[in-house]
Amino acid sequence: MQARMMQQPLIVSSLLAHAARYHGDAEIVSRTVEEPGADDGVAIVDGVHRYTYADAHRRAGRLANALSQMGIGAGDRVATLAWNGYRHFELYYAVSGMGAVTHTLNPRLFPEQIAWIINDAQDRIVFFDISFAGLIEQIAPHCAGVERWVAMTDRRHLPQSALPLHVYEELLAAEPEDFAWPALDENSAAALCYTSGTTGNPKGALYSHRSTLLHAWSACLPDTMNLSGRDAILPVVPMFHVNAWGLPYAAALVGAKLVFPGPALDGKSLHELFEAERVTFTAGVPTVWLSVLQHLQTSGATLSTVRRMIVGGAACPPALMQAFARDYGVAIQHAWGMTELSPLGAINTLKQKQLDLDEDARFAVSVKQGRPPFGIDLKIVGAEGDELARDGRAAGDLLVRGHWVIDRYFGAGDSPLVDGWFPTGDVATLDADGFMQITDRSKDVIKSGGEWISSIELENIAMGHPAVAEAAAIGIRHPKWDERPLIVVVRKPGRDVSRDEVLAQYPGKVAKWCIPDDVVFVDALPHTATGKISKLQLREQLSAYRWPVAA
Ligand code: AMP
Repeated sequence: MQARMMQQPLIVSSLLAHAARYHGDAEIVSRTVEEPGADDGVAIVDGVHRYTYADAHRRAGRLANALSQMGIGAGDRVATLAWNGYRHFELYYAVSGMGAVTHTLNPRLFPEQIAWIINDAQDRIVFFDISFAGLIEQIAPHCAGVERWVAMTDRRHLPQSALPLHVYEELLAAEPEDFAWPALDENSAAALCYTSGTTGNPKGALYSHRSTLLHAWSACLPDTMNLSGRDAILPVVPMFHVNAWGLPYAAALVGAKLVFPGPALDGKSLHELFEAERVTFTAGVPTVWLSVLQHLQTSGATLSTVRRMIVGGAACPPALMQAFARDYGVAIQHAWGMTELSPLGAINTLKQKQLDLDEDARFAVSVKQGRPPFGIDLKIVGAEGDELARDGRAAGDLLVRGHWVIDRYFGAGDSPLVDGWFPTGDVATLDADGFMQITDRSKDVIKSGGEWISSIELENIAMGHPAVAEAAAIGIRHPKWDERPLIVVVRKPGRDVSRDEVLAQYPGKVAKWCIPDDVVFVDALPHTATGKISKLQLREQLSAYRWPVAA
């Protein structure tokens, strides 16, 4: 029997319409790309732009009209190359809301890679922050399909360019703010994000309106990110990295204040914004929080309003979690995800029965990547595809399925799925309570004497030493054991730690045969465009390394 309920499509434009109507005066605050102190009228003071969801909705309407005037229609890809800021936010809603596809480009990739991605996606227009004007000039000659390059600024700040640039503010000024947002098919495409392509060419994940809304809804739940209209959310994670983990959508869903950091992502600048805007919730990769921690430690500053911090994108070192909880009263929540999962796959929130555990036992749960929210299902399998026990010990290939998981890549004919499950390329354990812990990327697993050693575990232990800033474990060929672990360490500025002191961290924490055979000190570790340690590059850098003779 047919139910008798309204059928309303789950579409991105409904999020901003809701925020504008019911949270119209909630603020969106952005550090701008234009020079701080520029006198741009009422909205920008000292390089900080301030307006509301109602303003953003009106300007998104103007932008959607402008896009229509430029001939953009359903399914067309419109790219952005921009920091987290209010114009980028308007693009998210105007482009997807009118039925086109918001394609965020990662400016940290090489110019050739960006051009390749633009061409693969067949982007018709590219909107860019003026700080990327030079990059755009390098890319443009290789992107014949792009019809317009739009600088996200006003005429006064327009950089000199050999390209015929369009000016964002002029496009908006020429259009009315009323736009008839279409009732789109919820399964149509809303946004496109490419994976960083550490192996082979990057691949596109094409999200639907429905998957984006369900993901945002889930993100707000108390056991997920616990977002509400009482929060001030500062996404440090870039809007070009899996849509800032969906926060620009989730914030509008609950009407939370949004604070965008622009290009200033160093510890000091973030801290200033946390305090000035009374930020309660923030999210980013571990390297960002390491730099915030370092700033707090060296300046003696504290955090007066930030209480929750999501760490994901790479494993969160337990020492980082401890330092923020102990010294600054901030609860770090570990989360795991992937571009292919929009990105949320698991997040760490304790269950009622775990609240009474002693501190050590609670911490042992908290360091795991977390459990899946409703809408995501996880399993681990062995080499033959056989499902492994959910006992917190067996480690295997992690597979996932759910409402916001891709079923194939953009433009690809073949599906990557295995019996309806997406293979993540991560290796993990799952325990009886559903908590998942990543032990490795499958290609980074260290194989010693037929056994697997978790590189993440070795890294976390090294980073438990107070003088260690960052650490990476890699497998190095060994004549007897196939591979043995080597730990590569970056010392904190002005601190000293010896090889023996690093190795002294291990006994008692891992089995004897898992202890690294040697330590190499470096000034810095190579990172990918999404802030992860690039093991590929690190292995290349250490290709001349040989084990000490005694090993
Ligand atoms: P990306 O698609 O760029 O977001 O990268 C996804 C990959 O990042 C995952 O497959 C994991 O290998 C890694 N990753 C994300 N979050 C975590 C985490 N909390 N711990 C360990 N690895 C993570």
